[in-house]
Amino acid sequence: LASRDFKKTDTVIKVDDLEIGGKKVHVAAGPCAVENRVTLINIAEKIKSAGATFLRGGAFKPRTSPYSFQGLGVEGLKYLAEAKEKTGLPVISEIMDPRDIDIMIDYVDILQIGTRNMQNFKLLMEVGSVDKPVLLKRGMSATIKELLMAAEYILSRGNEKVILCERGIRTFETATRNTLDLSAVPLLKSLSHLPVAVDPSHGVGKRELVSPMAVAAVAAGADMLLIEVHTNPEEALSDGEQSLTPEQFKEMMKKVAAVAKAV
Ligand code: PEP
Ligand code: MN
Repeated sequence: LASRDFKKTDTVIKVDDLEIGGKKVHVAAGPCAVENRVTLINIAEKIKSAGATFLRGGAFKPRTSPYSFQGLGVEGLKYLAEAKEKTGLPVISEIMDPRDIDIMIDYVDILQIGTRNMQNFKLLMEVGSVDKPVLLKRGMSATIKELLMAAEYILSRGNEKVILCERGIRTFETATRNTLDLSAVPLLKSLSHLPVAVDPSHGVGKRELVSPMAVAAVAAGADMLLIEVHTNPEEALSDGEQSLTPEQFKEMMKKVAAVAKAV
C-alpha cells in the first residue's frame, strides 16, 4: 500500500487548511519537550512569526534514562492545544502508548511515532485504526524496507495518512549524534507515494549543523522539516544541544525558503 507501484500519484495529507506532500515545504518547529505553558506559548509565537507551519513538542517523552524528565503528559497536551489556539499552528506530538490514543486525538493534529517505536507493531496498528495523520520516524537501526513495512502496518489498518520521516541512523560515526541519511529522501520518494519529512535536529544532534542539513533536506526533495527550537537551549530539559534559538531558526527559515523556491 505504501508503494509507488500501488499508487502512482503523490499522497497529499490535509491538516486544517495545509497540505503536506503538495507543492509547499512545511516546517514543524518547537521544543523537544513541552516544559511549561509560558515557554511553550512563547516559542510557538516566535516560530510562527519566522514562518513555521506546525508546532512540535513532546508531552510523552521516550527518555533513555527513567530518571530523566518524562514529559508533562496530558498537561502538556493541553498547553499544546492552547498554543494552537493562540497561533493557529497545528500540533504534532509523540504517542508512546496505545492506551493514550483516545486522549491524544483530541489534542493533536498529527501523531508522531518515535524512532524507538517504529516497530512497536501494536502501536502502529492502533494509530492505523484512527482518522488522524501519523508521522512515522525511521528506527535508528532500521532499513528503508523496514520503514516502509512499518508504514504498511498503519496503512493496512485503514489509515492512509502516513508521513515518513528520516531522523538519522546509527553508524560507526560518533562525531554527530546520528548519521542523517539524506539519500533516504529521494529514495523514499521514488519507492513510495507518501510524503517525506526530515528531522535534522535528531539527525545531527548539534545546533550548528541543523541549518545546513535542513537546507540540504529541502534540496533533496523533503516535503516537511522537523526542527527543535527553544528560547533558552542551555536550560532545556531535553535536547538543548541540538535546539536552535528563535533567532537562529529565523535565519534557517530564510535559507530554507530560498532553496524551496529553487527546487
Ligand atoms: C523527538 O522528536 O523529540 C524524538 C524523541 O525523536 P526521535 O524519536 O526521532 O528520537
Ligand atoms: Mn528531541
